[in-house]
Amino acid sequence: MTGSTSGIGLTIAQALASAGCNLGLNGFGEVQQIRQIACQIESDYGVSVDYYGADLRNPVEIENSIQECMERFGRVDILVNNAGIQHVAPLPEFPAQKWDEVISVNLSASFHTIKACLPGMIEQRWGRIVNIASVHGLVGSVEKSAYVAAKHGVVGLTKVVALENAENGVTCNAVCPGYVRTELIDRQIRAISRSKNWSFDDAKASMLSDKHPIGRFLESEEIASLVIFLCSEAASGITGSSITIDGGWSAQ
Ligand code: NAD
Repeated sequence: MTGSTSGIGLTIAQALASAGCNLGLNGFGEVQQIRQIACQIESDYGVSVDYYGADLRNPVEIENSIQECMERFGRVDILVNNAGIQHVAPLPEFPAQKWDEVISVNLSASFHTIKACLPGMIEQRWGRIVNIASVHGLVGSVEKSAYVAAKHGVVGLTKVVALENAENGVTCNAVCPGYVRTELIDRQIRAISRSKNWSFDDAKASMLSDKHPIGRFLESEEIASLVIFLCSEAASGITGSSITIDGGWSAQ
């Protein structure tokens, strides 16, 4: 699973391990620290965990890491595309290089991972693909052109993969969270607090009152529980869906 070295992805990885899955982790970070996390998951849940440091902006590195994962575990049953990055700026000031990076990590990487994993899933007639999109896969927000475009793309990619594999025993769904308190969101709170000259708490309260009727951030565990359900047999009839878990954001 991609982006599983921190934040939501690490919590999903731990939840999958607690359900008995061996894991191929991917993401950036201090390698020694990631290896320690992998060992901890192995000893907590009695599963095998491997780590691949592929940079998801590079399709060859993606293919190689999935190849390595298949050689280690023999097959891939579940693919979770969770890696994501954000850049915030009005469009005229949005650096072209940032646009390319946001599209490649949030959208194109999922195309490459799915392409590499699908043949095995089709052959074994069972697979689960869960793409962590965002409420921004369904609605827009100012200054997030690349992220919103990429996440809308993920929702579209999810539908096509679901339709092409509807009779193959492979489901593909998108999870669309609102704000989940992770480092990615803390960076945005700090940016608002700097630009408006507000305290961190005031910036946080303003983000919540604008978008989250439930008045709190979501927890990574809530996203992980939904992913576990989508990977279960009970969810075998759910495919091509974009499931919101957004504190009421998109109902407004
Ligand atoms: P995070 O920054 O904690 O985690 C992002 C992960 O992606 C990390 O493991 C990082 O190493 C990895 N990553 C980034 N660039 C990479 C690259 N080039 N190659 C390989 N790995 C790379 O963020 P998060 O908040 O946990 O977000 C996880 C996912 O959930 C993202 O797709 C994000 O868009 C989505 N999401 C987050 C929120 C939120 O409020 N936090 C809301 C909706 C959707």
